[in-house]
Formats: sequence, C-alpha cells, structure tokens
Amino acid sequence: MTPRIIKTIHEMQTESNRIQTSGKTIGFVPTMGFLHEGHLGLIRIARKQADVVVLSIYVNPTQFGPNEDLAKYPRDFEWDAKLAAQEGVDIIFYPTDEEMYPQGFVTTVRVDQLTEGLCGASRPGHFDGVTTICAKIFNVVKPNFAIFGQKDAQQALVIRQMVRDLNLDLEIVIAPIVREADGLAMSSRNVYLSPDERQDALALRQSLQLAESIIQQSERNTSVVLQKMREFIESKSTTKIDYVEIVDAESLQPIAELSGKVLIALAVFVGKTRLIDNVLIEPPS
Ligand code: AMP
Repeated sequence: MTPRIIKTIHEMQTESNRIQTSGKTIGFVPTMGFLHEGHLGLIRIARKQADVVVLSIYVNPTQFGPNEDLAKYPRDFEWDAKLAAQEGVDIIFYPTDEEMYPQGFVTTVRVDQLTEGLCGASRPGHFDGVTTICAKIFNVVKPNFAIFGQKDAQQALVIRQMVRDLNLDLEIVIAPIVREADGLAMSSRNVYLSPDERQDALALRQSLQLAESIIQQSERNTSVVLQKMREFIESKSTTKIDYVEIVDAESLQPIAELSGKVLIALAVFVGKTRLIDNVLIEPPS
C-alpha cells in the first residue's frame, strides 16, 4: 500500500487523534530521509509493534551549524516513499520549514548535561535543534512509542531524558546499529565518500573493535585504549579525528578507569564528511 503523505501539522494531528480514538497504537520513526537499511531497521521494529506506523522525513535546519552540510544534505523523497511503501509505512509526515518554524517561532527545548560532551561539544546548538524538533513532532504525531537508532547514541539518551523530564507520554525505543557488510555504520552521509575515503571510513568501526580487543586483554586505563584508537585512525590518510571518548553509558561523563557499562564513541572527518560510530560494552570486573 502507498503510504499517505501528510504535509501539514493540522492534518497530521487530526489523523493521530482519529487513530488514538479508535484504540490503535502509533509507532513513530523520525528521520531526515535519504533512507537506508539503518532507517528500515527502525521501521521494521515499529511495524512489528504498532498498529499504525508513521515515518517523518524532515531535514531540520536548526540542528545544523552554520558551516555544516544543510544545503547539500542528500534528499530523494520519491525513493524514500517507495522504500517506505515496501516496509508497510502507513503515513509519511513530510512538512516544510514554514510549517515547522513559522514566522515568530522563538521556543527552544534544551537538555543540559547529557548534551555537553561528545557531539554536543563539537556541534554547539545541535542538540537544542534536535530536542526542539522532536518535542514539536511528538506533539504532532502523538505516538505511543518512537524509535531512535543506537548509531546516534547521545541523541537517543538526550531524547529519553527530555521525554522523562517533560513527562511526554510516549516510550523511546533504541534500535541497534545497522552496518554495511564490511562494518561501516550505515549513514545518509556515506554517499559523500570518495572510493578512498570509503575505504578509510572503515577505521571508525575497526578502531572500536581494536578497543574491545585491548579491553578484553584486561586493559582498564581508558587513556591507553584511546591512544591506541587514535593512532589507528590517524594512520589513514583521509581521516581527522573530531573526538574519540570513553564515557559512562548513562551519564556520558568521561571515565578514567573502565568499569560498569561504558560507551566508546567517536566522530571522525573522512575527507570533509563527518561520520560517527560507537559501541556499548561492559568489561568484566
Ligand atoms: P537520520 O535520518 O540520520 O537523522 O536518522 C534517523 C534515525 O535513524 C535516527 O534515530 C538514527 O539514529 C537512525 N539511524 C541512522 N543510521 C542508523 C544505523 N546505521 N543503524 C541504526 N539506526 C540508524
């Protein structure tokens, strides 16, 4: 079935109210489009768990910094709609900037602490844009649950915190990272990579695997692990590290000694393309 395409907030809210009144559940997958298997993994989880699946496609300008790739961010709505149809999406919410940010819009939703490190440190204002658009869009789609990818680990935790703090009436589900056959985490931005860069981009995942194996051999000092990861990534000719960090998996605070559940997260420029990846581990104590 072809998904219904809804472009206005009013129509989406009316439809969501109708679905909820009829006793059906709504599973929601927010995306910026240019869909790949990572997004489809989220949609499949929603399809299994909800009566009605809503996918949003919106390249949110407020989460891009002035020197980032907003203008050239890849877009292909026709293709996305085709994939969404194949996956059994019921509704695509596809608003314009004017619809989401009309003249006179002045509100920002901000989560502190969790947004300070990692991507928050290198992309000032990014998470304010993310939380503001998510708060808005949750109020428009009114889902029972929304699915986010572990690929954007910090984003998922920030959204979960916002939902808790603002008592938003939905559940946040976090889905595993979907990867290419060679290990590269799927991303809409992978299309920017030249063949050489595509090869070097494997260093992100490989450095995480390197960290895991060093930790498995009983290394517990995070700076030793991080140093080895940095050396590995920097050995590639097109890579430039934005950050490589080992943090507590809940608070996202950097840790000196590995213990409990930790997140190893990194952002690396491969050529001009900034890619992220991460792994969650719990070393035996
Ligand atoms: P984006 O369109 O990049 O904003 O991503 C929309 C959602 O898809 C976010 O919740 C991402 O975390 C998730 N996502 C993107 N890539 C992947 C991936 N490779 N594996 C799992 N989830 C992903």
